[in-house]
Amino acid sequence: MTRFKRILLKLSGESLMGQQGYGIDPERLGQYAQQIKEAADMGIEIGIVIGGGNIFRGLSGTGKGFDRVKGDQMGMCATVINSLALSSALDAVGQPNCVLTAIRMEPIGEFYSKWKAIRAMQQGQVAIFSAGTGSPYFTTDTGSSLRGIEIEADVMLKGTRVDGIYTADPEKDPTATKFHDITYSEVIARGLKVMDITATAMCMQNNLPIYVFNMDVPGNLMRVLSGEDIGTLVHN
Ligand code: UDP
Repeated sequence: MTRFKRILLKLSGESLMGQQGYGIDPERLGQYAQQIKEAADMGIEIGIVIGGGNIFRGLSGTGKGFDRVKGDQMGMCATVINSLALSSALDAVGQPNCVLTAIRMEPIGEFYSKWKAIRAMQQGQVAIFSAGTGSPYFTTDTGSSLRGIEIEADVMLKGTRVDGIYTADPEKDPTATKFHDITYSEVIARGLKVMDITATAMCMQNNLPIYVFNMDVPGNLMRVLSGEDIGTLVHN
């Protein structure tokens, strides 16, 4: 992999929990902020989408009697909470950043636009895109595809707790083997749980490569950016 000029980093809400099982682990957050700062110090323009699964997911709410749309709105608010936490952790390590929201909610964050995002990144700020797409029935994976394509990122880096894409869930199936690279169509055909189909299809149609890697190992973001082959590339 070559070095990138502009990246979209997707972080799941779940990985923010660290060992806690719920909420936000300050240690994990601090590690992420440190890794992001190192990347920004290299001059790479960085946009970030963070999930909300550590706090609330719309779909899990419907099983408990919540209205789906309201549940999804709660999920989007959860991503804003995580975005503010990440912004604060970036402030703490001295990394300039801004939070843009897909739903108007000044003064929590400025309302998102492509050009605001690009201007911020060009000025050396990390742009955090919160509230996903702003619409229910979507996920932050789709939010990442959308923002990644809009900001003309060279790649979407999907930081997870697994070191790439496997034939099956490696945490459940010990015989699972890892792909070095795989096409979007194969991800969809095999039903691999990398990203939802909507997000994968958007990346496929707009040629945004996805690189899945383990972000929970400190230093791994820099390894990916400097071309080390530690994850799985999804391409056309
Ligand atoms: N969500 C939504 N629209 C979006 C993005 C997110 O409705 O564009 C809601 C949805 O309910 C989702 C929740 O926000 O379950 C949290 O996002 P996600 O599940 O993607 O978080 P992650 O799994 O990455 O932690």
